[in-house]
Amino acid sequence: MNICNYCKKNKKLIQAHIVPKGFLGMLEQQKFLEVSFNYSYKKRMPIGPYDMNILCADCDKIIGLYDEYAKKILIEDIHLYKNKNLPIYSIPAHAIDYLKLKKFFISLIWRASISSRDAFKEVSLGYYNDVALACLKDERFLEDNIFAILVFKDGPNIKYQDAITFTASKLAEKHAYKIHFSGYQITIVPKSTDMRWVVEKGDESPQVLFLKKENDWTILELDQDISGKQNILDAYKESFRVK
Ligand SMILES: [Zn+2]
Repeated sequence: MNICNYCKKNKKLIQAHIVPKGFLGMLEQQKFLEVSFNYSYKKRMPIGPYDMNILCADCDKIIGLYDEYAKKILIEDIHLYKNKNLPIYSIPAHAIDYLKLKKFFISLIWRASISSRDAFKEVSLGYYNDVALACLKDERFLEDNIFAILVFKDGPNIKYQDAITFTASKLAEKHAYKIHFSGYQITIVPKSTDMRWVVEKGDESPQVLFLKKENDWTILELDQDISGKQNILDAYKESFRVK
């Protein structure tokens, strides 16, 4: 018995997955993953993407619904949205359940933040732990700028697509978390108002790539794992250049 982080009740806690099972593919059977934090070498680690001390079964089930939705759109259906000429995926607004998808990303970073497992030690939301929980429980309106979501997809040439990493960083002068798993590079910015993207005249800011309510959503496919403002600006320009 222990206190569940979601319902705050004293309950039996279960094996709660941080990275949902549905995203792990073969890793789930292998029980280990090969990873390094900079992708320059491989290291075997026990997989353990779950935590025994964060959630009760009832609350894990609630969050599980967002996991299932995210898996459908990002793993099962993503191929439907591939552009024929450009390395981008365009998901029309009407095909996105914004609430479920946004809550998936919020729950992902929240789970990593409340977990004390080593793999997630760089993730510590502080004040935003409560904000995340309020968003998940519909006690707070979901805003594009709170837990702003930027997603890239690994191109076929990227090594270690299975690698799971959670790192803290800064992006355009804002605190950000970069997460990698299942062929996705996910950036979550707890508060993205006033991000400082300095773009050349006539260019659009990569800010348009963030997930926004009632907007079509563009996911770039990249041939390397990228972080940082300048790399993202460059990748954004490059993606729209027809080869
Ligand atoms: Zn609970």
